[in-house]
Amino acid sequence: MTEPAVRLRVHDTLTERKVRLAPRAKGNRKALTLYVCGVTPYDSGHMGHAFTFLMFDVLVRFLESGGMRVRYVQNITDVDDPLFEQARRDEVDWKFLADLETKVHIRDMTVLGWRPPDFMPKVSDEIDRIKSAATRLHSKGFAYRTDAVYFDVSRYRGYGRLSHRTRRSMLRKLRDEGLLGTVGPGAKRDALDFPLWRGSAPDEPWWPSKFGPGRPGWHIECSAMAMRYLGEQIDIHGGGRDLIFSHHESERAQSESLTHKAPFAKVWMHTGMVRYEGRKMSKSLGNLVKVSQALQRAPAAAVRLYLISHRYRRDWDFNWAALARAARVIERARTVLKDPDGQASPALLKEFNAALADDLDTPRAVRALRMAIRRRDAAAVRWMLSILVGTASLV
Ligand SMILES: [Zn+2]
Repeated sequence: MTEPAVRLRVHDTLTERKVRLAPRAKGNRKALTLYVCGVTPYDSGHMGHAFTFLMFDVLVRFLESGGMRVRYVQNITDVDDPLFEQARRDEVDWKFLADLETKVHIRDMTVLGWRPPDFMPKVSDEIDRIKSAATRLHSKGFAYRTDAVYFDVSRYRGYGRLSHRTRRSMLRKLRDEGLLGTVGPGAKRDALDFPLWRGSAPDEPWWPSKFGPGRPGWHIECSAMAMRYLGEQIDIHGGGRDLIFSHHESERAQSESLTHKAPFAKVWMHTGMVRYEGRKMSKSLGNLVKVSQALQRAPAAAVRLYLISHRYRRDWDFNWAALARAARVIERARTVLKDPDGQASPALLKEFNAALADDLDTPRAVRALRMAIRRRDAAAVRWMLSILVGTASLV
């Protein structure tokens, strides 16, 4: 029904340029590989998360609609400090909280009509792989052991390049996030070094290792999971923009040190932040809008259409009136879909595909959808909705 989507160009955070995703030769069944950092399951189910995952869902659906195979991994970070801190505050077991919030995440995304990732590995199930990655980095001399096992940032040229930050700016961000740690004898050699393996607090999980009992650091978890499911080099690595530094910067350094292969990711794609009442939506600020709250006011397809009608790289403000407008668009689409399907307008489909192929310009694709609705082109509307709102319910 449509042109293959092989001409897609997306903005790469590292080079700050639009990168063409290499078209697969006809008959080449090798899948395009995509790794998106998933939730730390302690505050899942809000609009900021949904925005990121739906944007990648539109990307996957668009690529697949053009005949490309996609192998998609989204992990669950169920071994990480914010989860343990929340479990402590709630006085519940970390595993109980993680399982509960993971279910919320999957339930919300299912209602929002995603094409589920091919693999959703949980850190707690992948400890052996993660340990092995940490051990190999240590034996190759990229890491050292003091009160924890730290990655030695000085051994990797180009730390800071992905986030386009100077050393000073990296240190400032670590300090702001309380992640600076201690530097000195018996601790880190340099403030930018980060743990690959560390001891666990009494109420935290631990696993045996050659470095003693403990748990992995955050960054090595994603390196190990990405490589296990997608290989040593991947096509697209994605996530929210707040992950660029230090998470993705560190993931890149470790992965390329481990394999001696660069680039670890051909393209780095990052989504903007969703604000509410003028500030980034976050649990710590108490200004979360939950997916479940939005679903009480509008059909799932409208919630999804509203979220994806923003440019994926920009920050934007969640607004209830705009959600209501998206609900009216879905209502009109529903009435058009009652008409018999004719031949979809090639011009409309071309415009729709050109929009998404140009760095996933979803606002422009939504304008094409609205035009198809105005023209009562049921076939075009059906096609566009299959990518933009997926399997989310229109009612
Ligand atoms: Zn990650």
